[in-house]
Amino acid sequence: MSTPAAREIRSVPSYCYNCVAGPDLMTVRVENGVATRIEPCHAAAAIHPGLGRVCVKAFGLVQKTYNPHRVLAPMKRTNPRKGRNEDPGFVAISWDEALDTIAARLRDIRARGLLDDAGLPRVAATFGHGGTPQSYMGTFPAFLSA
Ligand code: SF4
Repeated sequence: MSTPAAREIRSVPSYCYNCVAGPDLMTVRVENGVATRIEPCHAAAAIHPGLGRVCVKAFGLVQKTYNPHRVLAPMKRTNPRKGRNEDPGFVAISWDEALDTIAARLRDIRARGLLDDAGLPRVAATFGHGGTPQSYMGTFPAFLSA
């Protein structure tokens, strides 16, 4: 009977910035190089409003990190039909193709005018989390304004 291989277990101090309420301090348990658990960072209890603990959302970060279905590249919709029962047919594309596609569309909008015939903006954008402060976006708002 063979003995099981020794596991290397580490606790890595880190922080969660999963939402605009962060950053919040935590510790990540790492077993043989794989993150397995989110734990409080007790060492930060005296300096952190959350006493070194994260909220419940942060406990999903391990699954998020290793989810085999996570998005790893820009995705392009290939089905022009839209509707509740339509498969969007997303396919992964290169960053070059994604940026060239967006640049071409923005140049076209600029040439036609930023507002449509109804006076509404031709460009709309969403960035995921609600209420993401402008200060988190670097120069991106300036780019959009231009
Ligand atoms: S611990 Fe919760 S509240 Fe804090 S940054 Fe992460 S998700 Fe947001």
